[in-house]
Amino acid sequence: MTPQKTHNASDRKQPAAGHKLFFDHAFLPNGWARNVRLSVVDGIIANVEIDAERGDSTYVKGLALPGLPNLHCHTFQRGMAGLSERRGAGNDSFWTWRDVMYRFLGRLSPDDVEAIAAYAYVEMLEQGFTSVAEFHYVHHDIDGSPYADLAEMASRIVAAASATGIGLTLLPALYNYGGFGGVAPAAGQRRFLNDPDRFLRLLEGTRAVAATLPSTAVGIAPHSLRAVTPASLRTVVQGAGAGPIHIHVAEHVKEVEDCIAWSGRRPVEWLMENISVDQRWCLIHATHMTADETRALAHSGAVAGLCPITEASLGDGIFNGPDFLAAGGRFGLGTDSNIEIDAAGELRLLEYSQRLGNRGRNIMTTKPGESTGERLFVEALAGGAQALARPVGAIAIGRRADIVALDAEHTSFATTRAGHWLDSWIFVPGRPAVQTVLVGGKIVVEEGRHWQNEAITVRYRAALARLVNDS
Ligand code: ZN
Repeated sequence: MTPQKTHNASDRKQPAAGHKLFFDHAFLPNGWARNVRLSVVDGIIANVEIDAERGDSTYVKGLALPGLPNLHCHTFQRGMAGLSERRGAGNDSFWTWRDVMYRFLGRLSPDDVEAIAAYAYVEMLEQGFTSVAEFHYVHHDIDGSPYADLAEMASRIVAAASATGIGLTLLPALYNYGGFGGVAPAAGQRRFLNDPDRFLRLLEGTRAVAATLPSTAVGIAPHSLRAVTPASLRTVVQGAGAGPIHIHVAEHVKEVEDCIAWSGRRPVEWLMENISVDQRWCLIHATHMTADETRALAHSGAVAGLCPITEASLGDGIFNGPDFLAAGGRFGLGTDSNIEIDAAGELRLLEYSQRLGNRGRNIMTTKPGESTGERLFVEALAGGAQALARPVGAIAIGRRADIVALDAEHTSFATTRAGHWLDSWIFVPGRPAVQTVLVGGKIVVEEGRHWQNEAITVRYRAALARLVNDS
C-alpha cells in the first residue's frame, strides 16, 4: 500500500545538498569548541573546522549539541498519556496500566497510528531528540487478522518519520505468547501476535518499506522473555543479521519471579546464559538485576535502555547505576510510553532517581570534578547511537548532522560559565531552551517549533477525539 502522505520534510526549501553550517559554540567529541564550521554532504558531516570564519555558511544561533537518540519508544502510547492516573479498585501497577493500554490500542486504525506517531515525533524533535528507535508491536487489524500488507502499520511509522524528518530505527517486535513457557496469549494481545515464520515475512516487508526512507535502519525486537520461547527467540535472532536487537527485560519484580518459576533463572541471568548477548543488543529497562547480572550486562557490550520517566510513571523500580557505570556499562535513554517527551528531563530524572535511591548527589559520574550533565549526555549519545545502529550521536566527520541548538540567551544560562552549559540545560531550563533543531543538516525546528507543528497537531487532535471522546 502507499502510505497516506500529506507532507514531507524533504519538500521544504532547504540549503543545497552540500552546504556549510556555522555555530558560535559546538559540543564536539573533545568538548566545547568556538566558531565551528561544518560541511554537510547528503546529511553527513564531511568536515569540521574550529576557530573558523563564518564565510558563506548558514549561521545557526545558539549552543550546538549532537541531537540525542531516543532508543525506546512505543509511539502510539503518546495518545493515552494522562488516561491512567486514577486509582483502580486494588493496588495499581504496571499490570493495571497495561490493561488501560490494551483497551486504548484496541481501537487504533492505521491512520490513527500515523497521526499519533507524527505528533509524538514532532514533540521529540522540539525537545531535543533527533532520532528514535520505534519498538513496534501493534501489527494487525482490530480483530487480530493480518492486514493485506503485513507491514501496513510499519509503513505508517515510516510515513510519520518521513513527514517530520526524525531519524528512524524501526524494530518490528515478535510477540508470540502470553507468558513465560509458551502460555497462550490473552485477547488484548491479538494485534501483536506472530509465529517466527510470519514474523520473518513481516521483517522482510518492514525492510522493504524502510528502504523508501533514506538512512532508516531496521532491527528486531523480541518483545520480552514473556512473549517468546527459547526456540522462537533463537529463530528470529538468526534472522536479525547485524541487528540491532532490542528486548524488554527485568522491568518488574513479578516478571523476575515468573521467570524464576519457569526457568530457575532471573531474566537477565537467563539471557546471559542462553543467548549470545553482544553489542547488537539493547536490554530495555534491566531494572531488577543482581550484582552479578549487572556486571555481566556491562561486560557484554550491550546497551542498557533506560527510560526513567516511564519507569517512574509505572512504578517499576530504580536501575543500579553506580555498579553498572563502575563496570564500564553502556546506557542510553528512551521515552518508552511517551507520557512526557523531554530529552533533558530523561537525563535529569535518571540522575535524580539515582540520588533518591542512593541518598547522595552526582551519582552518574565516576571522577572527582567531572560534570554530571556532561557525563550523562555523552554516555547517552554513545549508547543511543549504538542501540539505533545509525551514525548519530556526535558532531564529527562521518556522523549525521543531527544537531540541537540551545538558546544561549535563556535566562537560566545567565549565571552559567562558558563550557558548563550541559549541567544547566539538563538540571535547569530543559526543553524551553531548545531553539533550533537540524536533522541530516536540514532545519526542522526553528524558535522551538517544528515547521509542521500546526498541521500535525490538527490531525492528532482529530484522531484522539475519535479514539477517546467517542468511546
Ligand atoms: Zn517498552
